[in-house]
Amino acid sequence: MKYNKVIIIGSGIGGLCAASAISPYCNSVVVYDKDLHADQPSIRKGVPQGAHISILLQAGLINLETLLPGIKSSLTHQGSAEIQAGTGQQIHEFGQWTPRRALDLVFLGQSRPFLEHAILQRVRDIDNVSLVDNCRVKSLTFGDHAEVSGITLQNAHGAEENIDADLVIDASGVGGKFAKQFSAQLGEEIIHDEMNIGIFYSTAHFHKPSDLRGKKENILIVPEAGESDIGGSLIDIEENRWCVSLHGRNHVTPPKNIQQWKELAKALPDTRIWERISQGTLIGDIQSFKKPKATWRRFDKLHKTPKGYLPVGDTISSVNPIFGQGMTVTTGHVLALQSALACSDNNLWRNYIDGAASWSEKAWQKACAYDKNFMRTLSLDPKKAAILKSLALARQRKSHDDPEAHLNVVLQSQMLT
Ligand SMILES: Cc1cc2nc3c(=O)[nH]c(=O)nc-3n(C[C@H](O)[C@H](O)[C@H](O)COP(=O)(O)OP(=O)(O)OC[C@H]3O[C@@H](n4cnc5c(N)ncnc54)[C@H](O)[C@@H]3O)c2cc1C
Repeated sequence: MKYNKVIIIGSGIGGLCAASAISPYCNSVVVYDKDLHADQPSIRKGVPQGAHISILLQAGLINLETLLPGIKSSLTHQGSAEIQAGTGQQIHEFGQWTPRRALDLVFLGQSRPFLEHAILQRVRDIDNVSLVDNCRVKSLTFGDHAEVSGITLQNAHGAEENIDADLVIDASGVGGKFAKQFSAQLGEEIIHDEMNIGIFYSTAHFHKPSDLRGKKENILIVPEAGESDIGGSLIDIEENRWCVSLHGRNHVTPPKNIQQWKELAKALPDTRIWERISQGTLIGDIQSFKKPKATWRRFDKLHKTPKGYLPVGDTISSVNPIFGQGMTVTTGHVLALQSALACSDNNLWRNYIDGAASWSEKAWQKACAYDKNFMRTLSLDPKKAAILKSLALARQRKSHDDPEAHLNVVLQSQMLT
């Protein structure tokens, strides 16, 4: 055993996966969340993105399967939609659809709460892991040498408690409250890489009509940089439902009124999403989400070696969600943690943080390079917009002509290369 007690702040995808990865190395793991996990998948206040499109990339599914063997088949068994890459997945960009060609690759489509619930069920079965809901962690506590020694929390009855631990894993998400406190105590500022993305999601769920239930799809309509700021995506999820998000860039907000929202879906560069939803039955209200910037806290650049604290998931990095990379990066961080824990040397921090940073970097490079094309100042430059368009069209032509090139584009977008 490396640790007697480990505390995890947050039971989102990152916290739950980290609990599973660290459980063999300690006597007990306690995961605290300010929310209550219901018995059924449901949208939580602490994870508002749960209401929106949440694509699990193929690399993320592989990561999850490594961390929780058998999760893929239990997701399928419980009702995730099986979507064939190449035929079920359709991307529209610059007036063209990606080719329809079987690629021997299957994606799983499900809502975020459904995925989290499947992971939660697995983690609940681990003997030395306890999940404590309705407990808001208020602050970290520190020992005599600035090492993190535990937390202060507000329990379900509103009382404050101090709880000691050998290690605190911060999986509290993008807010970074504890990272800030930890950095102040360490006496070293964490460098922040940031990019302005100004993205808005506006999402609705639909029951599918009976004649389309056998068809499992994942449709993405990308706006043309410089021409439009509105794109859309539709994904098949569990229980024969569609989750459909319209997204606005450059701070453009898609409407909350369903009639206007549908009109906007119809006005996308192609009507395929609108054709589907005009046959579906709306479930509930439209939900919105605003994400002004992408953030990467460069824990990997700290000179000092922190003790008793490890960040994971969005606490480290959070990019434009349009690329669907967040959960893959988060599970990649946990894989890095698993490898670092298996090392016999005493360099857990360095071994872990460098491994985690390489996942963040992969996502950051791709998302930021692409996002730059949509920044208003740049995309209004007609020369740059023309180059971007011709590159994208050349890539599409190649994908149409050459099955291997097509597969490569898909593998790249799935973070598999
Ligand atoms: C609109 C949107 C769409 C997205 N779409 C995708 C997608 O398609 N594919 C994808 O892979 N990723 C997507 N992401 C990113 C993805 O949601 C995140 O990368 C992922 O959720 C990170 O997991 P996490 O566990 O680090 O953090 P979170 O999921 O944010 O979990 C943090 C947890 O900590 C808890 N918590 C916070 N503070 C406290 C506290 N003080 N005390 C106790 N508990 C606390 C919260 O309640 C929550 O349960 C999207 C994000 C957004 C915003």
